[in-house]
Amino acid sequence: MRLLIVEDEKPLALVLKKGFEEQGFTVDLSFDGEDGLFLAENYAFDAILLDITLPELDGLTLLKTLRRGGVETPVLMLTAKREMNDKVAGLEMGADDYIAKPFDFPELLARVRSAIRRNKGQIDPEIKIGELSLDTNIRIARRAGQLLKLSSKEYEYLEYLALNRNWVVSRNELLDHIYSTSYDFDSNIIDVYISNLRRKVDRDYTHKLIHTIRGAGYRLCAETVEDE
Ligand code: CA
Repeated sequence: MRLLIVEDEKPLALVLKKGFEEQGFTVDLSFDGEDGLFLAENYAFDAILLDITLPELDGLTLLKTLRRGGVETPVLMLTAKREMNDKVAGLEMGADDYIAKPFDFPELLARVRSAIRRNKGQIDPEIKIGELSLDTNIRIARRAGQLLKLSSKEYEYLEYLALNRNWVVSRNELLDHIYSTSYDFDSNIIDVYISNLRRKVDRDYTHKLIHTIRGAGYRLCAETVEDE
């Protein structure tokens, strides 16, 4: 999952980036509102952490501009106690949640994950697709009760496909949501990860869950469909 953090207190921004990266997120940082707005409008994030008091453009104006432009990415506002009035304004402008500073990281993490899931219509932290289950809180996957030994990146691919189950996810969409803007990728990388996932998720089972839709992308679903 890809997260944008717009926060001008650099030490805090860097601590958050590190924390989220340790939890498997791909994180882009922005230290002012204008740059943050540019990134939010032009790249595909799964969630945005947005400070209110920012140089160049404040967080509320950023949010308003974003929503007016039709960007529906979940936004969690970071607010100091003295900004309680801004909290109400933020929620009215389409913020999904707000977190009062100082916050503790596990709470923030849980709320970011929850906002991402809710945006995909998934309320329960456990995602079930046929005999495959993912526990999104502790980032593990099982098939028929057996723990799948996935690397952190492999889990990210699987979770993204699982949150978009039954939908065809294109290769570009996978790149956009799993890698940061600064990542210089080899275009074969997706084939490598999908092939690893197939081996770990599907190889030992006759009923395949990961399907290739030629020219379009990949689809994770429990129903039996012919690969095209
Ligand atoms: Ca600030």
